[in-house]
Amino acid sequence: MSTYITDILIVGAGLSGLLAAINLQASGFHPLVVDKGRGVGGRLASRRIGSATFDHGAQFITARTPRFAALLNEWKELGLVAEWYRGVNEAHIHWRGVPSMTAIPKHLAKSLNVKLEMKMSVLKQEGSHWLAAFENGETISANAVLLTAPVPQSLVLLDAGGVALEASKREQLEAVEYEPCLAVMAALKGASNIPQPGFIRFESGLISWIADNQAKGISAAPAVTIHAMPIYSSSHWEDDRQKIGQRLLEVAAPWLGAEVAEFQVHAWRYARPRYEQDLPCLVLNQSPALLIAGDAFGGPRVESAALSGWAAAEVLQGKR
Ligand SMILES: Cc1cc2nc3c(=O)[nH]c(=O)nc-3n(C[C@H](O)[C@H](O)[C@H](O)COP(=O)(O)OP(=O)(O)OC[C@H]3O[C@@H](n4cnc5c(N)ncnc54)[C@H](O)[C@@H]3O)c2cc1C
Repeated sequence: MSTYITDILIVGAGLSGLLAAINLQASGFHPLVVDKGRGVGGRLASRRIGSATFDHGAQFITARTPRFAALLNEWKELGLVAEWYRGVNEAHIHWRGVPSMTAIPKHLAKSLNVKLEMKMSVLKQEGSHWLAAFENGETISANAVLLTAPVPQSLVLLDAGGVALEASKREQLEAVEYEPCLAVMAALKGASNIPQPGFIRFESGLISWIADNQAKGISAAPAVTIHAMPIYSSSHWEDDRQKIGQRLLEVAAPWLGAEVAEFQVHAWRYARPRYEQDLPCLVLNQSPALLIAGDAFGGPRVESAALSGWAAAEVLQGKR
């Protein structure tokens, strides 16, 4: 099998990787984005069960910076996002994807060179370039690499290839911990009891969030997404997923208001980073360039992933 050669390899087709790729491509680079998944988007994820549609990762998108707010407005003009609801502060818009969250990464990936079902297993330095090896036997040679997978997954790749990191940077990366999240997607036989605009947030108990995807405007049929609390998710991580789903549906019963037709469970091992780095991304090696980005840099939000991807692209363009 021959080795594919690129100037910049981006690992991860989540929002940080896709936005970095778009900016790099616009400035004349030829980035190749690889992802282990069958689709793009990472934690910007949607799924269908029959005619029910679910966002089962990120539930909404908000902007705190003018730069990201401007991007959301562009996406609104393109029909990729719509307002779901406003926060206590009326100006604070919570956006949803149109028709659902995955519409955004799918749109971004259209103009990019993206290879899916490419699970990278090793990254090693070979002289002036990087050599990435994948589980399917393929190899890619790159002048520069940007890692955007959750940090523990990126560390595994570096360790497998014997990439030596400065002690302080390794310490910084090892300090990044993530909360897990067990998510249940249930298609209902009738409308739910969840009040408008279609979500309930809980401060205690087994469940942290229930959303009504029909009220949200993304599902033709009644469909709820339930997110378990981080503590419940980690203490029941190894349990039978079918039983977990049943248990969470029992707890959620008062808000379901209708019989469950069918359900599925998705386990997010790295749902949200707990430890926030105060850097937008981290340069792990100058030459050949090796960078790491993603929501671990800036906080557990879609916007942070975007800002981190942009920052990494700017480092590679020599602007930072
Ligand atoms: C349940 C849940 C609810 C959330 N709710 C919200 C919310 O309401 N609002 C909000 O702003 N944020 C929310 N978030 C957080 C938000 O989804 C993330 O901050 C953001 O999507 C992260 O983007 P990213 O590009 O950094 O990482 P990701 O989207 O995780 O992208 C990383 C990509 O790397 C790929 N990858 C990993 N390992 C490898 C490998 N070895 N080889 C190849 N590819 C690999 C993965 O498949 C993935 O696609 C939520 C997250 C979860 C899980």
